[in-house]
Amino acid sequence: MDKQEIKQRINALRERVNYHNNLYYIKEAPEISDSEFDALFRELQILEDENPEFITPNSPTRRVGAVPSEKFEQVNHKYRLYSLDNANNGEELMEWYNRLGKTLPEPDKIEFVCELKIDGLAVTLTYEEGKLAKGATRGDGQTGEDITTSLKTINTIPLALFEPVSLEARGEVFMPIPSFEKLNEKRKQAGEPEFANPRNAGSGSLRQLDPKVTRERDLDIFIYGGIIETENKPPTQWETLQTLQNLGFKVNPASQPCKNIREVIDFCNIWNEKRFDLPYTTDGVVIKVNDLNSQEILGYTSRSPRWAIAYKFPPEQAMTKLGDIEMSVGRTGAVGPIALLEPVKLAGTVVKRASLHNADEIKRLDVRVGDTVWVKKAAEIIPKVIGVNLRKRPPDTQPFVYPEKCPVCGTPLEREQDEVAYHCPNHAGCEAQVRGRLEYWVSRDAMDIEWVGESLIKQLTDKGLVKDPGDLYALTKEDVLSLERMGEKSAENIINAIRESKNRPFYRLVNALGIKYVGRETAYLLSREFHSIDELKNAGFEEICAIDGIGEKIARSIVKFFENSYSLSILEKLKLHNVKLYEQAPQKPEELPFSGKTFVLTGTLHSMDRNRAGEKIKQLGGKVSTGVSKNTDYVLAGEKPGSKYDKARQLDVKILYENDFLNMLK
Ligand code: NAD
Repeated sequence: MDKQEIKQRINALRERVNYHNNLYYIKEAPEISDSEFDALFRELQILEDENPEFITPNSPTRRVGAVPSEKFEQVNHKYRLYSLDNANNGEELMEWYNRLGKTLPEPDKIEFVCELKIDGLAVTLTYEEGKLAKGATRGDGQTGEDITTSLKTINTIPLALFEPVSLEARGEVFMPIPSFEKLNEKRKQAGEPEFANPRNAGSGSLRQLDPKVTRERDLDIFIYGGIIETENKPPTQWETLQTLQNLGFKVNPASQPCKNIREVIDFCNIWNEKRFDLPYTTDGVVIKVNDLNSQEILGYTSRSPRWAIAYKFPPEQAMTKLGDIEMSVGRTGAVGPIALLEPVKLAGTVVKRASLHNADEIKRLDVRVGDTVWVKKAAEIIPKVIGVNLRKRPPDTQPFVYPEKCPVCGTPLEREQDEVAYHCPNHAGCEAQVRGRLEYWVSRDAMDIEWVGESLIKQLTDKGLVKDPGDLYALTKEDVLSLERMGEKSAENIINAIRESKNRPFYRLVNALGIKYVGRETAYLLSREFHSIDELKNAGFEEICAIDGIGEKIARSIVKFFENSYSLSILEKLKLHNVKLYEQAPQKPEELPFSGKTFVLTGTLHSMDRNRAGEKIKQLGGKVSTGVSKNTDYVLAGEKPGSKYDKARQLDVKILYENDFLNMLK
């Protein structure tokens, strides 16, 4: 490229980056993926570095974010906010470290703090003499948007600190993944467009003019820095974090001081693996020089501090070839297309299969066997195909023809009105459904039958001994002993475990039935209202819909389940074998000992895990909430409690330790 062409390319890139910045930060509707955006940004950065005569102060590479939206009052930041430079791999991280060594003496002695980079929305919180005075977005770093009222609805942002200090705290607001999934599920059911990712959902929920919307969205925050306006400022980043925590802020417990760059690299490697276990999304590690004096010496560029860098985890998206599309049949008969991929490394694991959701999605993406596709890793869910690279499409591909028959049993597929998925209506005879239903029945969240798992179910169904959950209870020890490689002791254990499951709490049974759209939570809500299968069966659509938390789609599915002769025949068998189809001592919710009481759980319990403790609380009529507020009655604190414990103390909420709780259960 000659100079003229370079200049033209730079201008074109700037225009595109500005355009996407606006879509991303202001409109919250990005059109391209982050990695595509990063590639544009990087190309611009490299061209400017190689041709410094074309650098202008208003190039997006010299600026932070985007100009704030006029929808909000604007706030001039007292202290500037910055973005971060990225290191996309270990090499770039070492380049940054080597640059530090040019300014700071004795690079071996530089200490760091590693913090997870939360993928959310940057905010600044101003406290005057310990009281929250203002909260704003980062905006372009100098001017942000006033979102004080929205921020005040977030339980983990203290309205008053433990000490009357003045400071500016910096943090990242985010939407936890479970809340994001719940919100999208609700929007899907209401026919509203779903959010693309937790970041967009979080940002969209916070930048609201109506704080009521924000309050409903279950947002959270981690504070990662602050400027404390006292004479005795903490001398390091690590001590700043401790001070902020002691003042009542929620600081990410994963943060860690590191004595040298080797410890930093270990931290990055460990969290690259562990990140998918977190209930929130993180896209990297922010590494900061610990000593604040050294930070001051290193200073800032126009866009970012020189004393920090964001190490980006390997991308959660990758490109690979689609070898074939396979149809999987679920336990309720739903048929889902699965992409069989040429193995590709994605966020540290090798991926061979990805979800293609349904026929509409295949049509929308126009995915064809032989295509090169983008796959994305989703937390806890199997990766999904999110797009096709049309430039790499071979000439002879054909549009995918969705099968008309069940790939397992050959029954013609059906599609109900308003449903996106096709399903196989052969509930009683389709092998995939029969096995899936049994596997769900015995699973931990359902009837929790030890000793009975996938392979035993396969043996039992192959031999024709069991066709549905009712048949499990008719099994004899001899039946089980007739299976290959089965010992006396194992057969006894299996029969005992099945027998023992006959008396499970009613909500477990409702869940185990595998009614479409009825999971653990819904089963629990139903069991509080209806105390036996007969009551639930006789309840009409309206009555079920009237339950808080249960919508029309679920109610319709429940009614349909009880109209189906196959479901009724299973229930008959269960009754015949004395499986408990009711709640033993039905009690009105208001008569239960924890009725009307709200609990928040924090820390590790020894006698049971937190899920179990939550279940017990609910069984006894209590509610379990995630955030501590004035309306919380008890905070149950296990070992190493988090910031919820501090908040409880701050709000004078009664704290229960494990022993107190166990006594209450008695
Ligand atoms: P950034 O997200 O790369 O890094 C800076 C931000 O990290 C800070 O503002 C802060 O909010 C956050 N952060 C999280 N945890 C932190 C911690 N512990 N310490 C310090 N900071 C922490 O930079 P950016 O300027 O906010 O945004 C750039 C990102 O946005 C890139 O990932 C880019 O791909 C994406 N983007 C995408 C599009 C698109 O169209 N897809 C457009 C613009 C930007």
